[in-house]
Amino acid sequence: MRSAKVTRSKSRSRQSGLNLRVGHGWDSHRLVPGIPLMLGGVRVESELGAAGHSDGDCLLHALIDALLGALGRGDIGQWFPDSDARWRGADSRKFLEAVLRHPDLPDFRIVNVDMTVLLEKPKLGSSKAAISETLAGLLGVDTARVNLKAKTWEGIEPREPAIAAEVVLLLEIL
Ligand code: MG
Repeated sequence: MRSAKVTRSKSRSRQSGLNLRVGHGWDSHRLVPGIPLMLGGVRVESELGAAGHSDGDCLLHALIDALLGALGRGDIGQWFPDSDARWRGADSRKFLEAVLRHPDLPDFRIVNVDMTVLLEKPKLGSSKAAISETLAGLLGVDTARVNLKAKTWEGIEPREPAIAAEVVLLLEIL
């Protein structure tokens, strides 16, 4: 009985022709005064910015990890190690562009991206559309395929102010 189910499932998959892969990414950074807060390639007005070797854009870092995860190609730290001086202060949009352009990756299309940012303040309401549009542009997809949610820490923020981002991405290998 079990083998019959497996056979039917494989048959459906072949008929649909879909080669879907899901990826998950998570990143967090400390928030400190005196540096800009970059989120999804957008500068967000904030008293605190995300400390990091690059520009500290944890949403882009989580997105890149989700993309690499879906492609089975490791993580952002392997591609752009923070021990490499080339990436000091780097614009994280360049990391995503470098992955998307990489000749060794298979052709694929993004089905959708769902993202959650954890941040106590500022509220992201006024920046969410700009962030989604920026990321959709970088990924080459319609903004309807890029969804951004913002949540606060609800009283369980780490000992120091922090920002975190979680991303789930679905793509189709072409
Ligand atoms: Mg990071």
